[in-house]
Amino acid sequence: MSGVVRSGRDVTSDLALRCDLVVVGTGAGGGMLMADAARAGLSVIALEEGPYHTTKDFNQHEREMLAALFQDGATRATEDGAIAILSGRGVGGSTVHNTNLCKRAPDPILAHWAREFGLDGWRPEAVAADFAAVEERLHVSPIEPGRVNRNNDVLLRGMKALGWRGGLLAHNRRGCAGSGFCELGCAFDAKENVLKVLLPEALAAGATVLADCRAERVTVEGGRATGVIARALRDGKPGPRVTITARAVALAGSAIGSATLALASALPDPHSLVGRSLHLHPGAAVAGVFDEPIEGWMGIPQSVECTEWIDFSPGSPRRVWIVPAFAHPIGFAAMAPGFGAAHMRRLRRYPFTAVLVAMVHDHSRGRVEARRDGRPKITYALDGDDARALVEGMTACARLLLAAGAREVMAPASTVGALRSERDLDALRAHRPRPLDPALTATHPMSTLPMAADPRRGVTDGDGRWHGVRGLYVADGSLFPTSIGGPPQIAIYTVGRRVARTVRDDLQ
Ligand SMILES: Cc1cc2nc3c(=O)[nH]c(=O)nc-3n(C[C@H](O)[C@H](O)[C@H](O)COP(=O)(O)OP(=O)(O)OC[C@H]3O[C@@H](n4cnc5c(N)ncnc54)[C@H](O)[C@@H]3O)c2cc1C
Ligand code: SF4
Repeated sequence: MSGVVRSGRDVTSDLALRCDLVVVGTGAGGGMLMADAARAGLSVIALEEGPYHTTKDFNQHEREMLAALFQDGATRATEDGAIAILSGRGVGGSTVHNTNLCKRAPDPILAHWAREFGLDGWRPEAVAADFAAVEERLHVSPIEPGRVNRNNDVLLRGMKALGWRGGLLAHNRRGCAGSGFCELGCAFDAKENVLKVLLPEALAAGATVLADCRAERVTVEGGRATGVIARALRDGKPGPRVTITARAVALAGSAIGSATLALASALPDPHSLVGRSLHLHPGAAVAGVFDEPIEGWMGIPQSVECTEWIDFSPGSPRRVWIVPAFAHPIGFAAMAPGFGAAHMRRLRRYPFTAVLVAMVHDHSRGRVEARRDGRPKITYALDGDDARALVEGMTACARLLLAAGAREVMAPASTVGALRSERDLDALRAHRPRPLDPALTATHPMSTLPMAADPRRGVTDGDGRWHGVRGLYVADGSLFPTSIGGPPQIAIYTVGRRVARTVRDDLQ
């Protein structure tokens, strides 16, 4: 029996379907869950509000692909506009356009989860075999030194000159042509992600994926989840109703989508936890102009990390993860500070510009609420410690760029001009962040439906079961009880794997 991907655009009248498990969302968590649950013999329907794109659709045109692959056409942001939040929309979710860095959740973070939140099953030694299985499935391998492009080499040079910690990362790519278009989808089918690996597995095991179909409400009767009510979408507009009756329901719509759906469905939340502890890894990009061409758009976009400023011991003020970041021209123009002629001067230096981003392993808690029309409202403010960590991180990026030979460095802070030497850095250190200053970008929403053994502290238990509602699960980055301070996809794929096992055992 083989499965199928259908589109809501082809649904012309109301539809009623039945299955063992309905999964809402097909990103890292949902993609792994649908594949593993189908392989375990469950009948699975996965709903995905975005379209189904395949390799031939990834045309490398920034304007078209940003609009096609990202939530709100890549314009999603916090309510005050201060943090741009990029996340995926379409079969495969954010794994379609992410930059494929692979790192396990750090041991001290997992140990903290076990200690603080009673999550024994997430102790480093308890989860290691699942991490290894996910890495094998997604063909994770170290990035070879020969694949480091000039933008990443700037970070290597800066770390070497300063004697700072860091090095090469691992990734889930095979057959990579080094085109540099990862964030627009891979035209070479080199990403070992949901689209390439897990969707074919799910379909081979009989799963049905309904793309262009938005879940609007989870139904619960007598303390048990009974299914999902969804709408088929045509050109983004709601069409016929799709009613799915299921023995189990899993939310895997990302930390923002799952919390929004939970709130729109008024799912039981006796301790007011849903949507209230959003973490984002908010990041600020710092640019350095070099005399030699950098041409950061060519090659693997991210291959090197700097870990000098991140320390996962509890209470440590060092909470910034630094990686190179590069954008194609539209993204670069949107991020480059300034207006008019000054802005144009920066764009003219695009080929000579290297960019590093400082991402905060944040403790601040944002909030996701559901608007009347079911769309998310996202609010988030950096607390004092995180604001200090951000400034520390931007300063560290500036130091790295100068140490690597940048002629001048631009930090996205209104009080700071061009930085040309270590002496200029005091102005940056003195900067006090406020909304929009610096402009921030986030690509890792987490923690809106956190897990904890105690229902007063977590929405689900450590296996993703919703406390107090039988047959309801969460299987995405919403589950992390804290931010993880690095690339989250391996941990989220692992969540999907573990929740699949739980659902299988519970339904037996
Ligand atoms: C530009 C970028 C680069 C990144 N690079 C990396 C990286 O290098 N390494 C790394 O580890 N991580 C990276 N990430 C982050 C990583 O991809 C995500 O953390 C991960 O994919 C999140 O998984 P998820 O399952 O929580 O949600 P997602 O993968 O975002 O999937 C959620 C899916 O649910 C769908 N959905 C939501 N609501 C509904 C609804 N009501 N009905 C139906 N469908 C719905 C969405 O359309 C989406 O497709 C990157 C992210 C971005 C944006
Ligand atoms: S750099 Fe590699 S993985 Fe990224 S889009 Fe190009 S070929 Fe695909």
